[in-house]
Amino acid sequence: MDHGRGDGQTTDSMSRCRPAGVPADQASVRRSNLALVLRHVSTYGPCSRSAVAVATGLNKTTVTSLVSELQARGLVKETGPQYAGSVGRPGVALVLDGSGVGALGMEVNVDYIAAIATDLAGRVLIDRRIGFDAMGSGPDRSLDEMARMVEKTVADLDRLGVTPAGITVAVPGLIDAVTGTVVVAPNLGWRGVAVAERLSRADIAGNIPITVDNDANLAALAEYTSGTAAGTPDLIYLTGEVGVGGGIISGGRLLGGADGFAGEVGHVMVDPSGEPCRCGRVGCWETKVGLAALVRMATPDHAYGMGPQVVRDPEERLAEIEQRQAEGDPRVDAAVTEVGRWLGFGAATLVNLFNPRVIVLGGYFAKLADRLIPAAQEELARLDMTGAGDRFRFAASDLGFGAASRGAAGVVVERALSDPTAIAIRDPK
Ligand SMILES: [Zn+2]
Repeated sequence: MDHGRGDGQTTDSMSRCRPAGVPADQASVRRSNLALVLRHVSTYGPCSRSAVAVATGLNKTTVTSLVSELQARGLVKETGPQYAGSVGRPGVALVLDGSGVGALGMEVNVDYIAAIATDLAGRVLIDRRIGFDAMGSGPDRSLDEMARMVEKTVADLDRLGVTPAGITVAVPGLIDAVTGTVVVAPNLGWRGVAVAERLSRADIAGNIPITVDNDANLAALAEYTSGTAAGTPDLIYLTGEVGVGGGIISGGRLLGGADGFAGEVGHVMVDPSGEPCRCGRVGCWETKVGLAALVRMATPDHAYGMGPQVVRDPEERLAEIEQRQAEGDPRVDAAVTEVGRWLGFGAATLVNLFNPRVIVLGGYFAKLADRLIPAAQEELARLDMTGAGDRFRFAASDLGFGAASRGAAGVVVERALSDPTAIAIRDPK
């Protein structure tokens, strides 16, 4: 799994493209070479030390030394002999180990908190989600709850013999990634919330680095590396939550913008005389297509913000909507068609701006994709001026509500593969 495609940084290019005349110190050369070998084994393993030397251009003695260090850090292990033809003795093959090193991706959203832990090969070890009213609870209680989930998940990983190399938290809002602070998250009602700082006080052993990023950007990376349209270099991911965010992969790179705030498609105004939005403006796209809009139209008696707040995981809300439809409530079909039409309306703008090959629909959009996509496609056909309609498609994400937390874990894996020295050397047993 190569999460590097998302941010366009590959170790290979970093190690070979130093500016002329700038001496790189030995430690950084070794770090680059460790990453080069680790990524080769991760992508092409099982492979012998000789094969690694040939492929990386490093000499065999250096490769042997680098592999020893990667073994000591628990990142690479030897497997059975690899027979390369019939001449000579078989070499011992190397594979990614990482069984003791993991990655933890967390997500807080309007009505749930989620955690996905993977090993370094991206295999999911733990996947959990709890319904939680983060919108009504405020940042302190929400982060307390998230800290408890982090503690529980890290303890469960410990029982599996896995130590997380890092924790990345997905939040639906604008993020200052340098400080791990949420600048503003309209649907959570958060402003200036120091998420990384708060979670660093959680009761977990070791000094696990914590970073914070936008949920849609992380989900887009997950889709790009392991989703239904994986590898599509021009891909847009839309979160289907109460809020709607976009992660834009263009030419194989995640579009960040000057401050990392790009992709806030949910707050593009589509109706100047529309409903007020949680961001303080009116007629934003998410007031037409967000989960709250669907619920308001399909099951108005259970609309968000109506009556005593009952915490419902989005899956529960969707089950309720499905049940109403089965009972013949005509409002459900009308609501889904209306959302689909507005989905196509906004998608047309994205298609005209970014010329994506695919828009991946996440969250609740994916659950209702069979009914949303035809209505969206029809509206898009009317408004797309690029003529690329026949080469473009909508696709339903198969990562479910876990896409952002999965992408968050992927970022941790990517960081570990790019800088193996961040993983502690283990005590020899
Ligand atoms: Zn808005």
